[in-house]
Amino acid sequence: MNTNLQTPIDYLKGVGPNRADLLRKELGIHTYQDLINLFPNRYIDRTQYYKINQLQRNNADIQIIGQVTGFKDIPQKQGKLLVATFQDDTGTMDLVWFRGHKWIRDSIKLNTPYVIFGKTNWFNDVFNMPHPEMELLEDHEKSLRSAMQPIYPSTEKLSNKGITNRVVNTIMQNLFLETKGQFVETLSGSLISELKLLSKSGALFNVHFPKSQELLARAQFRLKFEELFYIQLQLIIKNLIHKSKIKGFPFTKVGHYFNTFFKEYLPFELTNAQKRVIKEIRADLGSNAQMNRLLQGDVGSGKTIVALMAVLIALDNDFQTCFMAPTEILSVQHYNSLNEYCNRLNISIKMLTGSSTTLERRDIHESLENGDLQLLIGTHALLEDTVKFKNLGLAIIDEQHRFGVAQRSKLWKKGPPIIPPKGMEKDSLPSGEIREVPPHILVMTATPIPRTLAMSVYGDLDISVIDELPPGRRPVKTVHRYDRNRLKVFQFIRDEIKKGRQAYIVYPLIQESEKMDYKDLMDGYASIERDFPKPKYQVSIVHGKMKAADKDYEMQRFIKGETQIMVATTVIEVGVDVPNASVMVIESAERFGLSQLHQLRGRVGRGAEQSYCILMTGHKLTHESRIRLETMTRTNDGFEIAEVDLRLRGPGDIMGTQQSGVLNLKIADVFKDKDILQTARYYAKKILSADPSLLSAENKAILNTYKQLGKYKNIWNYIS
Ligand code: ADP
Ligand code: MG
Repeated sequence: MNTNLQTPIDYLKGVGPNRADLLRKELGIHTYQDLINLFPNRYIDRTQYYKINQLQRNNADIQIIGQVTGFKDIPQKQGKLLVATFQDDTGTMDLVWFRGHKWIRDSIKLNTPYVIFGKTNWFNDVFNMPHPEMELLEDHEKSLRSAMQPIYPSTEKLSNKGITNRVVNTIMQNLFLETKGQFVETLSGSLISELKLLSKSGALFNVHFPKSQELLARAQFRLKFEELFYIQLQLIIKNLIHKSKIKGFPFTKVGHYFNTFFKEYLPFELTNAQKRVIKEIRADLGSNAQMNRLLQGDVGSGKTIVALMAVLIALDNDFQTCFMAPTEILSVQHYNSLNEYCNRLNISIKMLTGSSTTLERRDIHESLENGDLQLLIGTHALLEDTVKFKNLGLAIIDEQHRFGVAQRSKLWKKGPPIIPPKGMEKDSLPSGEIREVPPHILVMTATPIPRTLAMSVYGDLDISVIDELPPGRRPVKTVHRYDRNRLKVFQFIRDEIKKGRQAYIVYPLIQESEKMDYKDLMDGYASIERDFPKPKYQVSIVHGKMKAADKDYEMQRFIKGETQIMVATTVIEVGVDVPNASVMVIESAERFGLSQLHQLRGRVGRGAEQSYCILMTGHKLTHESRIRLETMTRTNDGFEIAEVDLRLRGPGDIMGTQQSGVLNLKIADVFKDKDILQTARYYAKKILSADPSLLSAENKAILNTYKQLGKYKNIWNYIS
């Protein structure tokens, strides 16, 4: 490489200080390298001509050859549209203009061949193209243009300040001239030949200046492969180090607790999915590697019972366990439901939260350290340094998406400081490693992450999925209602209450406008108390500003059925389980994200009765909120919802994935490119199993590239 790619962008021909400043601020381009990794969003293909009968409803930019046969005006509420009929030998379509009617009518020649170019829409059963670019076929044939025009990411400010797509194109050309288009190869020769990949230089050239559709596709493949390959390589190495270095406690026995529970107290038949997952967990716990497993299961799929059974295995092997939940309400609920079983099985269980008293804490600390306490339930208060276990063998984290990676690793460090009394042979652990033994970890989440994404985000975890709901559940019926229909909605709630059911009414609570939200909530509460007067109706309220004891009191009244309506903020979003509640009303539903709506809806439909979710909104809705509402009313399938969410927001925003950092993808899309992801994972595994330390001459380029990994957050800072 002749030119240093770390050269500041200011030095590139055609850039200069003003443009450099804009490129930095608007696109984060500081160096030559950043520019070369600015990949086009899309390409305009000017080699293909479509026939009208080939058009697809995909809003693509396309060109068509045909003739205008006539014009008509279509009156609108304000002004009118000019519509031309355009035809080729396969059909007709409309061309539409909102402005410039006179000029267009005057300049377009009727019944003369034109090439039109633009986006097509499907409207009233015909295709139309608004404001097409038009060129006489005769002129078009004379002009020269590159086959595939790249369109780069841009911002309003950039185009306003004159950094158009053409300008970006030109400076990109200058960069290739200056570097002579030569870039360091970052993959091994055998990968390149086996997968018939373009070279690094060839790929970069063709992604910016594609010579043909085929070369563009190969360039994109190579760059996407490379991006995903290095992510997988990192994850697999992490996992290998984990498995080889980190021994866990082998829980060899399945004994009294597990068997008694299974035979005598299991309240229902387990679903096949639950059985399968319990087997997977048992196998992990029985091996002498440390379990690090993610359990995914949609809301209501029955994760808690699976967690309890894992706890029982740990107890059968004389280890302590803990169960961490993201909110106090959820901790209380887990405590209450697990407490019942624990009492019958004679298991000591306690709860620790932010509002535990000093006395309670002292008691908990003591019984943890002397080993009397077998199961500790609680919030992140469990992570405090003062909480020390005698021999923690299993830690469960519920609703993992509410916690960060940091918290998971904190639990790791709570493993026992000494060799446990039973269950482990001394010599299986070289003495130097004794202090390293972490507990087995089971993290649970109801945020359904598509498998491909899970693989790249949680590649260091093993994954189990509960993909089946307990029998007899009826899908929740979901509708969207406008605020003006509130009285009808209230009447519906009254009818449900008459049948003995209960209802939630949820208000948004978003940090930025907390005060206003609080006011909305209280106004809502007041109006509900008016519309549902005492003593006939009893209303509970729960929100984040209440004291824990008050929250608990209100929650319990609702659980016991003393109140019929629960007015709440999203504090009830996760985990709350009141099977008799059959109505979930979500106020200002447009302000919630899809996964949050899905979580909230999961609070109903837990009993045998038909349940309902009513999404209330005002009239003004953005396109995106409409998609969210439409998705919620169309499906109950958490995975489908997660996919729409992913499309709307991009993977970086999906709950729980932000911290992972690996999803800062520039060219690949974990969704659309899942085949490439799988290929990348396959080769990363294959290479590592043959050459785990990447020491062979063959893998030198890979090792060099990998070594840079730790130094940069964004992998494109080192792979070119
Ligand atoms: P989640 O996966 O959302 O945490 P829970 O563990 O809270 O779900 O379970 C939801 C409800 O389903 C609980 O009331 C639980 O008792 C019940 N449940 C769990 N498994 C089964 C099953 N196999 N058959 C019937 N009901 C079940
Ligand atoms: Mg749960």
